[in-house]
Amino acid sequence: MEFRRKDLLGVADLEPEEIQLILDTAASFKEISTRPIKKVPTLRGKTVVTMFYEPSTRTRMSFEIAAKRLSADTLNLTVSASSAVKGETLADTAHNLEAMAPDVLVIRHYASGAPHYLARRLKCGVVNAGDGLHEHPTQALLDLLTVWLEKRKNDKEPVRETLTGLKVAIVGDIAHSRVARSDIQAFTKMGSQVTVAGPATMLPPYLETLGAKVTTSLVEAVRDADVIMMLRLQLERMGQMFMSTIREYSQFFGLAPRHLNLAKDDVIIMHPGPLNRGVEISPEVADGPHSLILEQVANGVAVRMAVLYFLIGGEKG
Ligand code: ASP
Repeated sequence: MEFRRKDLLGVADLEPEEIQLILDTAASFKEISTRPIKKVPTLRGKTVVTMFYEPSTRTRMSFEIAAKRLSADTLNLTVSASSAVKGETLADTAHNLEAMAPDVLVIRHYASGAPHYLARRLKCGVVNAGDGLHEHPTQALLDLLTVWLEKRKNDKEPVRETLTGLKVAIVGDIAHSRVARSDIQAFTKMGSQVTVAGPATMLPPYLETLGAKVTTSLVEAVRDADVIMMLRLQLERMGQMFMSTIREYSQFFGLAPRHLNLAKDDVIIMHPGPLNRGVEISPEVADGPHSLILEQVANGVAVRMAVLYFLIGGEKG
């Protein structure tokens, strides 16, 4: 298997074999972050530019750390301090950045499709770090990596073998979640059974076409689950009323210790962050023994190292 893409825009385009290749590489890169000197020369002389039109803590730092661990140079465009606020178009900003010859542009944008638009126009690689309500592919890859490394029986077991048949519950504000859209596709491609749950107002109509089972009951979704992924209530994206009160939401869709008794004994709890503690997840669960939330963050660096490595033309395949 070879990885021949110029860009990473979404999970929708990825073949299971490509996912396996990225995750194998990420798993081997994990060790670099445990060394006293956390750096290898693989991407020396290469440049990674990050361009974030929406707030981010984890994702942006994670790409930057990943690039630095592989010895690439990094440059951040802070959009609030850039010419975008003077009216420059996205394409003009990107062409100007490209004139400085980066190898990869990592973009987060509030408009769905913005990375695809740039990928068609730029010669450098483009990575989608979250586009509107559409996709967040590196989040899905790090989620797969986290589940695979936790659940595999031995270190030779392929991703599909570990993930086939696992019951994955994705719960919360599905409508506004690009993570949900990428995760549903990623887990179903690798053989898992995905159930999504949320209030009816936060469940868009086409979810079954992505391969997920849909319910408005948290209890139904978490029963016998191997993995429970809680999503943030994205209040900043809610124009109109999607729920009556946060308290009511939390009562029906907040994950509390009592729910874990319904799931498998070795259930793992995940959340892409940032957390609304006490809203979609109780602090006891977020910090409890089943939680892999910080492991997701650590795996995020490894996955982004693998993605940059393949796109910039580390050794292919
Ligand atoms: N960090 C994730 C994203 O950018 C999830 C979230 O914001 O809730 O989509």
